Amino acid sequence: MKNPKRKMRIFFLGTNGWFATRTGSTVCAAIAFQDRLIVLDAGDGFQHIPALLLRLRLKRADVFLSHLHIDHVAGLHLLPLLPRGTRVRIFAHKSCIPALKQFVAHPYTAPPSEQWAKVTLHPLSTGKNKVPIAASGKPSRPSARHQAYSVLALPLHHADPCFGYRFSLEGKEIAYCTDTGPCRNYTRLAAGADLLITECSLLPGALPTPSWPHLSPQTAANEAKKAGAARLILTHFDANKYSSLALRYRAQKAARKIFPRTSAARDGMEIEMQ
Ligand SMILES: [Zn+2]
Ligand SMILES: [Zn+2]
Repeated sequence: MKNPKRKMRIFFLGTNGWFATRTGSTVCAAIAFQDRLIVLDAGDGFQHIPALLLRLRLKRADVFLSHLHIDHVAGLHLLPLLPRGTRVRIFAHKSCIPALKQFVAHPYTAPPSEQWAKVTLHPLSTGKNKVPIAASGKPSRPSARHQAYSVLALPLHHADPCFGYRFSLEGKEIAYCTDTGPCRNYTRLAAGADLLITECSLLPGALPTPSWPHLSPQTAANEAKKAGAARLILTHFDANKYSSLALRYRAQKAARKIFPRTSAARDGMEIEMQ
């Protein structure tokens, strides 16, 4: 950790859902926390992680995958781009680990053993998980302020098993809920969060279908309000519906009528936790 006093920052590196277009890459965001990046999903926005690690002079990344849909894992193909000596821990619900073991391997990509970065897979349980700060279970450096951080993992409402996360980081609560319709676990994860990062797959005013639950900006705003979150960031804009950034601003405007502290993410956006 180079500067203990700097505020926690969050970087949006990919903000499209489904596929990449000129509006952006598929979903990936990163929280700069202590000596590492906590990466939220690994869509092809993951291509910007190596440069971000170099810029922030960090050598560790904890990658949390919500589920296995391609727009959330395609960036794992880019693991060989990571700088030499980077330690990467990939966290996913335990039910996803067998498929991930296959995916981060031949014939889909070069397996971790052939990469310069050290990559390991870690199963999460449903409920609260303690994530040790030191990699490989080794004791933390004395300079680390916390021995572990906690993450709550709960299943969301999606076509395939998908998990939302709530991170407790130095007194800040950050919820990440994507690829879901409204559900009880969504509200639990978002309750009183300092920041809720959520999806916006549907256009303003659209309603989800039972077989394909997603959120419109108004639904996301209503959920943030109901949960008492302090701030809302919309991401994972369905590339087939949101063909321009102007449409995202329209979504932001619609959401702000319900929940004023809403921002529509775009690739390259950075925010600071207040
Ligand atoms: Zn998705
Ligand atoms: Zn999905």
